[in-house]
Amino acid sequence: MSQSVILVTGGTGLVGSAIRHIIETEPAGSRFGKKPGEEWVFVSSSEGDLRDPEQTKKLFKKYKPTHVIHLAALVGGLFKNMKYKLTFLRDNILINDNVLHTSHTTGVEKVISCLSTCVFPDKVAYPLDETKIHLGLPHESNFGYAHAKRMVDVQNHAYKDQFGDNYTSAIPTNVFGPYDNFDLEGSHVIPGLIHKCYLAKKNGTPFVVMGTGKPLRQFIYSYDLAKLFIWQLREYDDVEPVILSVGEDEEVSIKQVADAIVKAVDFQGEYTFDTTKADGQFRKPASNKKLLSLMGDFEFTPFDKALDETVKWFVANYDNART
Ligand code: NDP
Repeated sequence: MSQSVILVTGGTGLVGSAIRHIIETEPAGSRFGKKPGEEWVFVSSSEGDLRDPEQTKKLFKKYKPTHVIHLAALVGGLFKNMKYKLTFLRDNILINDNVLHTSHTTGVEKVISCLSTCVFPDKVAYPLDETKIHLGLPHESNFGYAHAKRMVDVQNHAYKDQFGDNYTSAIPTNVFGPYDNFDLEGSHVIPGLIHKCYLAKKNGTPFVVMGTGKPLRQFIYSYDLAKLFIWQLREYDDVEPVILSVGEDEEVSIKQVADAIVKAVDFQGEYTFDTTKADGQFRKPASNKKLLSLMGDFEFTPFDKALDETVKWFVANYDNART
């Protein structure tokens, strides 16, 4: 890329902050570091509410991006998704439509939007891969969010077919890392358990993990995901999405997650599983074959190391973290 302005929407969230960290800390000019002529801009909703077309246009007028990594979304846990289906559907449709359409009308050269493995059909043959997004209805619980995100793939194809636009999407599996939302109620499993274990240590109370601990999940460290987004921005020019994930053989159980948290927090107290609580789906593996075939080898950070770094970040930033 010669002179380019890369606008990262949702630039202050978990994934956006990780991209900023990598761009700022990898050696300049290296595969994932800042290249000469690049300007990176990371924006939050305080610079413009992307549900609003006028605010979106104003933001694009201000920064004049040539490239967009579109991460901004209304995201939330199971409870919020179930309760506010229309809000999840509508806000995300508006955000995505405004970002894609304003990118189109202002001549942005490339857009990568972020989907999620939640968009896949509820009833589907595993492992998930990039060809299966539209093969059936998503799970009822996140119906609004999933449909809005699926439409991005449909829009990308329509922009390409009608105008030849270079729009594509990324599908990360479960992300964790510094700058996550560590809220005890609405957060994802890893940040929620880190916060819970930290408080159990501080208050001398038991650390209780919901469910049996047996379900398996693929977790990607946000700093690894950031590198994959940067690769996709610079080296991948196709409308079809790419799953950005560790391999299926790198699934970890919730018990392994909790064990690693106990170790990283150095929690010495009572540690149990509340098996009366629901477990959720046992596993929903996603294939990263397409990613590796395109990118060649990529060294993912070992799970325990990534978790340890995340816990250290949380402890050091407890007063400012999203809790
Ligand atoms: P976060 O909740 O950490 O960050 C969300 C970002 O979006 C924030 O910067 C927020 O700004 C911004 N945002 C939200 N609403 C608006 C709005 N109306 N206008 C402008 N900006 C807005 O999310 P993550 O970093 O976790 O997620 C990033 C992307 O990755 C999302 O598209 C999500 O769907 C996807 N994803 C995430 C996964 C995960 O495990 N976390 C897994 C798979 C996909 P502000 O802080 O100002 O509100």
